[in-house]
Amino acid sequence: MSFLQTVDLLAVMRAILDVSIVAFIFYRVILLLNRTRAVQLLIGVALILLLDIFARFSNLETLSWLITNVSTYLVFGLIVLLQPELRRLIAEIGQMPLFRVFSQDLALPYEPIVEAARLMAQSRTGSIMCILRRDKPEAIIETAVRVEGVVTAELLMTIFHKDTALHDGAVLIEGGRILAASCYLPLSNSTLLKKTHGARHRAGMGISEESDAFVIVTSEETGRISVMMNGDLRTPIKAPDLREIMVQIFEQGKKSLADALEEPSRETR
Ligand code: ATP
Ligand code: MG
Repeated sequence: MSFLQTVDLLAVMRAILDVSIVAFIFYRVILLLNRTRAVQLLIGVALILLLDIFARFSNLETLSWLITNVSTYLVFGLIVLLQPELRRLIAEIGQMPLFRVFSQDLALPYEPIVEAARLMAQSRTGSIMCILRRDKPEAIIETAVRVEGVVTAELLMTIFHKDTALHDGAVLIEGGRILAASCYLPLSNSTLLKKTHGARHRAGMGISEESDAFVIVTSEETGRISVMMNGDLRTPIKAPDLREIMVQIFEQGKKSLADALEEPSRETR
């Protein structure tokens, strides 16, 4: 291969790499925009840009001057406003298979959580176990009771035992740790909830709407296990199916309860 051909090949490979990276960034940004209020912000920015072009073409100097001067602050304003979305985007990049080798994720112990849910449902103990993923609800943690304990079925059951000071409210679990207990969660108005569902189920649903947490609720009244994610609800769930759903979500990376539930229903067919 001649020197020129090698240079050509390198240039082509560089171009492919260049376009692939840009395409990937656009793809992730579009995915991000689909699910956030960022769309409205970007429409606003696009309108300002159009106004700027119009001002320049029409020689409207004062307007053009104003837009040029304000746009520097606008960029900072956008970064502040889009901070949660940007944080999520960066976190998602860090969670991609390529980078996962470098991040030491605390493994989520399913067994103690499933066991606690099974036993609490059996003994009609009300509970909300909120398993955090990327979002960290700092405001909720601040007003809750910090636990920082290793997840075990015994600790979970002790927390929700009706004679303890911690039993009211939810626990937040992150990786192998119970971060906090007695957490007060936002209540949902979702139409997926039935009249028989009270504050506990509304609270579980509320946090599943406002964050990407996976939520398990056991009912004091009915002894049922329910799961919630992204504002979606499945109830009642059997303990072995709960384990399978968790494997699908936390190991197989399924993004919704509907996707996660495909597997157990296929097996029983
Ligand atoms: P169950 O089926 O267990 O009776 P439910 O959905 O009918 O549950 P309630 O009977 O109203 O709900 O449950 C009340 C309990 O739910 C409270 O004692 C408290 O532990 C919990 N709870 C209520 N509101 C919240 C909230 N905003 N955040 C967290 N936990 C809450
Ligand atoms: Mg009730």
